[in-house]
Amino acid sequence: MGMSLLLAFTIPGPTEQKKAVGSLLHLSPQLKAAFEPSEDFKPIPKPGSFDWLSSHEEAGQTYGQFLKSRPNKPGAGGRKLIYLQPIGDFPEGAPQLATLKKYMEAYFYPMAVKVAETLKLADLKSVSSRGDQVNCTDLLNVLEARIPKDAFVVMGVTMKDLYPGPEWNFVFGMARLKARCGIFSFARYGIEDDKKRALLRALKVISHETGHVFGIKHCTHFHCLMNGSNSLSETDRAPLHFCPACLRKIHWGLRFKPAERYQKLADFLKVNDLEKEAEWFQKRVVKTK
Ligand SMILES: [Zn+2]
Ligand SMILES: [Zn+2]
Repeated sequence: MGMSLLLAFTIPGPTEQKKAVGSLLHLSPQLKAAFEPSEDFKPIPKPGSFDWLSSHEEAGQTYGQFLKSRPNKPGAGGRKLIYLQPIGDFPEGAPQLATLKKYMEAYFYPMAVKVAETLKLADLKSVSSRGDQVNCTDLLNVLEARIPKDAFVVMGVTMKDLYPGPEWNFVFGMARLKARCGIFSFARYGIEDDKKRALLRALKVISHETGHVFGIKHCTHFHCLMNGSNSLSETDRAPLHFCPACLRKIHWGLRFKPAERYQKLADFLKVNDLEKEAEWFQKRVVKTK
């Protein structure tokens, strides 16, 4: 099957990276500094046999191709909010909704993020379950049927383990990008072993998936939050930040001042003891001012 075929992937060099970002000729000095490939952005590592790029053919997406794809623009048609939709309880030690909200407000600054009222599983009669696991196809049907008019995206989050159908063991999450909704489980993030690592995993997954809703495809140009991932270990190795090409794509929709966004993220990460990540974002504040 697909997994037995190891795909050859050529790591893009500086010329391809520049092409991915596009011409910076007429931009302000701050935007030029933000989108210029520099030593702060590492090349994508050579994929191991079990990594995403060894089993998935990815075409990549330059900034120019992104524009041609007519991506979703936040605010269009009144769709101006990112919704976080908790499903079931979030016990102590689990990533907290208030924390996720603050992170998303910084990551997708200046967009507003709203935490919806928790959906109680006992109230969702159409959602089937299997032992302690919940059927996420059923859950997505519920979310899709009740997407608020002002929602750019509805991101369902849960501590319940998910399965999409009887033939599946489990899934980390599922999304319907056209319908602008998704659901992600933190049940297997290892909250018992390492709370900080579990939080970082949740932050990476929720911003990566929201990035897709903004029309950003998997990144093949740099080591980047938008790289595809086959496993938690691959997610752990990926950075929390967007590369210059993906940053330029998100900037097209959000029009922030890069230094302001970087500062908000650095502040959030410091408060949540993610020092290594905070340091990277703080360094970028200085360079994009
Ligand atoms: Zn993805
Ligand atoms: Zn990228």
